[in-house]
Amino acid sequence: MNKDGKRFPLSLSSVVDRAGKATVRPTHAPKTATQQTAMQNALTHGTTKKQFTTAQAVPPTKIAQQKITPNQPSSPLVSDAVRRAMVARVAQQGVKDQLVLSALEAIPRHLFVQSGLASQAYIDAALPIGHHQTISQPYIVARMTEIMRDGGNLNRVLEIGTGCGYQAAVLSLVAKEVFSIERIKALHELAKNNLRPMRIANIRLHYGDGMLGLPQVAPFDGIIMAAAGMEVPKALLEQLTIGGRLIAPVGGASQVLQLIQRTAKNEWKSSVLERCHFVPLHQGVI
Ligand code: SAH
Repeated sequence: MNKDGKRFPLSLSSVVDRAGKATVRPTHAPKTATQQTAMQNALTHGTTKKQFTTAQAVPPTKIAQQKITPNQPSSPLVSDAVRRAMVARVAQQGVKDQLVLSALEAIPRHLFVQSGLASQAYIDAALPIGHHQTISQPYIVARMTEIMRDGGNLNRVLEIGTGCGYQAAVLSLVAKEVFSIERIKALHELAKNNLRPMRIANIRLHYGDGMLGLPQVAPFDGIIMAAAGMEVPKALLEQLTIGGRLIAPVGGASQVLQLIQRTAKNEWKSSVLERCHFVPLHQGVI
């Protein structure tokens, strides 16, 4: 039971925060492509509405059974085989956690990008999602999720920077409850639209400044930051459980992935993992 007295799983419509109820479409689409929702993409690609329910960390075999299979003979570039090939490349790059790899295989990444970019959805690259933001590279999504899972069972996790909602969808398959915050209203709405047809029951989307975290639902077993600041906001460190893990890109033009583990009430241990490249973390909401 969560703080609102609701039980998981919840439908997505019941879990988005109140402030985000109105349907606002992104208005500042990039010049290269038209901003579209995943549902529109799905329709364009002949995918029908699909059920997608999971409320807790699910064994890989289960994930394989319940994955969405947007199998369109007319769109070989977004087929299951192409997604499996992407997962194989991510594994080759060193991601070993089978649950994470299965989650990556289960989530149809092409439904999170603009339809004009769907054919590129399974190359290992960040892609524009409008508002000068990007959907993260599959490898880095998998790597950060794997590192977070290394700390043990994940009940409650927090993502800073929902963007189009892709990483939140991946997280929903490895954690019991996923909270994700986005500071750009239009992207918060885009993520809602992208996730709604998938009916993922254990994601809560919030519109707000992720630098403040979500003190009302803290502590979190894991926190993933999808945007890079010069340092990790202190509020987020305070919202980790003891033993909890925060993974964040840190830096400006040159960035590193940093893992911070909370080892005691007033003690955190930090280590640098690898170089990375993320969009910048900004304060406040727009
Ligand atoms: N998680 C996304 C990646 C989104 S890109 C994925 O699955 O691909 C990073 C996102 O972080 C952008 O949408 C940006 O608007 C958001 N962001 C930057 N600073 C933020 C902040 N302080 N609070 C919440 N979101 C923030």
